[in-house]
Amino acid sequence: MTLRIAIIGFGKIARDEHMPAIAADPRFDLVAVVSRQRDMSIELPWFATPAELVATMRGQLDAVAICTPPQVRHAIASDAITAGVSVLLEKPPAATLGEVESLVNLAHDAGCGLYAAWHSQHGAAVPEAARLLAGANVSKLEISWFEDVRKWHPGQEWIWTAGGFGVFDPGINALSIATRILPMPLLVDEAVLHVPANRQAPIAAELTFVGESLGAQFDWRCSEGERWRIRVNTSDNRRIELRDGGASLFLDGREQQVDTKGEYPSIYNHFAGVVERREIEVDREPLRIVADAFLVGSREQVEPFY
Ligand code: NAP
Repeated sequence: MTLRIAIIGFGKIARDEHMPAIAADPRFDLVAVVSRQRDMSIELPWFATPAELVATMRGQLDAVAICTPPQVRHAIASDAITAGVSVLLEKPPAATLGEVESLVNLAHDAGCGLYAAWHSQHGAAVPEAARLLAGANVSKLEISWFEDVRKWHPGQEWIWTAGGFGVFDPGINALSIATRILPMPLLVDEAVLHVPANRQAPIAAELTFVGESLGAQFDWRCSEGERWRIRVNTSDNRRIELRDGGASLFLDGREQQVDTKGEYPSIYNHFAGVVERREIEVDREPLRIVADAFLVGSREQVEPFY
């Protein structure tokens, strides 16, 4: 059976990744779009609000992909689940851990599929890195996630507001890989959050995890290209490195062959099973680490960002 799906929130990620991935997967049929502004080039039923979508398409919709900013996601997902529709949540799954638990409970009661998609966990290098690190003793972890906010988030005001995550919006991608591949949980020991004087959310952050030599650096002020890298050393002297946001893998400096399916095709391949089996698959760990960083982190004011 083809799964009838609608996209809610028609911004950058919906257009760049969700539309093409749905179009390429024969198990899905994109039947509607919810957007506050109508895009006449999209020849699909259009709704201005999620409530209109759910009311009008009752019985004709199996799933929605929620691609809005995180602050509004819980309310939208709750309504969809209550209407019996399965939900794919873009990352991060919600603005708070409490909201995530609420959605899990609702989906459980309604018998709907719920999938918190962490796209970086679908990176080509991730399964092999997890295999290499299974049962290992990690002696060093160095996460560097540097990019230019002006290039990757142009005009996105929500990202700077409370609940918008700031530099943790990309940083949580690194954490979603780390929590998937590391053989132990990461506990935040200390964090420093660099917050522009005119904003609510950090532009850079440094995290130190409990243990020796375990840390992460996130920075949005990098104007010379991106660096999305995770380096792990093990006590048996292996060096495992993921580059390009989890797309490529190096073992002891030598590049390894990895499958290159694409993150979003892999997400929809997985989500089809979640919907069909009405499963709940929600990994809270990346969000838990970010929440912990905000709980223990010290705030340092930096120059305003315009
Ligand atoms: P975006 O370009 O700002 O798009 C978000 C869309 O959500 C808006 O265009 C808007 O669509 C809708 N929306 C609904 N309520 C909104 C509100 N109160 N404020 C602002 N927009 C609202 O953001 P994005 O980059 O696509 O990111 C959306 C989510 O995807 C974020 O959680 C982000 O972490 C995740 N993500 C982004 C990327 C990326 O490269 N950009 C990659 C992976 C994941 P309408 O105007 O159509 O209503």
